Amino acid sequence: MPFIFQYIKLSKPTSWASRTDLVTWQDHQVQSFLQKVLPQSPFYRKYYEHLSIEEWQSFPTINKSIMMDHFDTLNTIGIKKKEAFKLALQAEQTRNFTPMIKRTTIGLSSGTSGNRGLFLVSEKERMMWAGSILAKVLPRSIFGKHRIAFFLRANSNLYNSVAHGRITFRFFDLLTPLIQNLKELNHFQPTSLIAPPSMLRFIAEAQLAGSIQLQPEKVISVAEVLDPLDERVIRRAFGTIVHQVYQCTEGFIATTCAHGTLHINEDLLVVQKNFLDKRLRKFTPIITDFSRYTQPIIRYDLNDILTERADPCPCGSLHLAIEQIEGRQDDLLYFKGLDTDTPIPVFPDFIRRALITADEQITAYQVIQHRLGHIEIHIQSSNPDPVKLQQKIQINIDALCQSIKVESPIIAWEAYQHPPSIHKLRRIKRMYA
Ligand SMILES: [Zn+2]
Repeated sequence: MPFIFQYIKLSKPTSWASRTDLVTWQDHQVQSFLQKVLPQSPFYRKYYEHLSIEEWQSFPTINKSIMMDHFDTLNTIGIKKKEAFKLALQAEQTRNFTPMIKRTTIGLSSGTSGNRGLFLVSEKERMMWAGSILAKVLPRSIFGKHRIAFFLRANSNLYNSVAHGRITFRFFDLLTPLIQNLKELNHFQPTSLIAPPSMLRFIAEAQLAGSIQLQPEKVISVAEVLDPLDERVIRRAFGTIVHQVYQCTEGFIATTCAHGTLHINEDLLVVQKNFLDKRLRKFTPIITDFSRYTQPIIRYDLNDILTERADPCPCGSLHLAIEQIEGRQDDLLYFKGLDTDTPIPVFPDFIRRALITADEQITAYQVIQHRLGHIEIHIQSSNPDPVKLQQKIQINIDALCQSIKVESPIIAWEAYQHPPSIHKLRRIKRMYA
């Protein structure tokens, strides 16, 4: 029974004595995985032709567009992209999320219409995933009673497979009217509440206003970047830290420990660091998942910016600790350089800090860049003097620009508006290529 086996395996304290032991173990896992999977995948077989498996760490990388372009020959069970897309789109339209081909779950990642990823998960992988996620996420043993409320854009057989024994799983569709979802949530009384942070924030505000009364043991943010501003409100509403699960089409990448630190799930996959700025410890992860055979993810360059934690986490875990997930690499803003004609990339986190430290009364924001030299700032605050607030933000942005030697952008001020919806909230985003 892969589910319970995986649960028990991951629930036990790890047996590696050191980081070196862990890395050696991973190397064995990947090599044995490659030996089994490469003969089954025509794409990878050709891609790595004449390369030696021992040198997998420097194999050419893939990314989303390579994976989608070669979907038909990359997967190991001969599922065609056309057929899988058709079925997955149908599921989203009918909101009946149980599509399968050859007993394989088909799912769609979010994204713009031309840029959506497809995932394939076999029955065994689905059970393994459920075992892994429960081991890493449940606040107590699987043998107790749990009610898991899960808000997402789309449901999947994958998520439903966590319902076992005394675990009740309830999917809340983000397309359902918010008021109805709140009412049902209040009735359901989840022990674990899992949702994108924009939805968690909305639920937290309803809780603070007294219109619902929940006592979740664990609150978990998924699918969007958790902004410190939202984290504060959610924590205050439920009196507990906000945990995170970093999971995407490409894998179940990281989860928070009891201290709220994100750790890479290095017992499930390998993350290699592609540094964007080594001094700032910022990198994009290259993922090799040594347990996925149906749709192998090997040296996959994921377009997310992560920051490695500078000091070890007090929990003592050997797993790589992440200070924060910053968002997608596409959301780096670009400002004009002072001494160069080349536009300079600016990390979303710099902008975030310039904003939220400007004034304590800021309650929500969004920064959007449509073209070089300009940004739009959408702001919500309880400060009665909006002009003064804008001046404070301007001072912080100017100071930031000076320190990184770029020209201050021209700022257009807008009122903030973003109700939770099926569209992912990206508080900082760039809208041009
Ligand atoms: Zn930790």
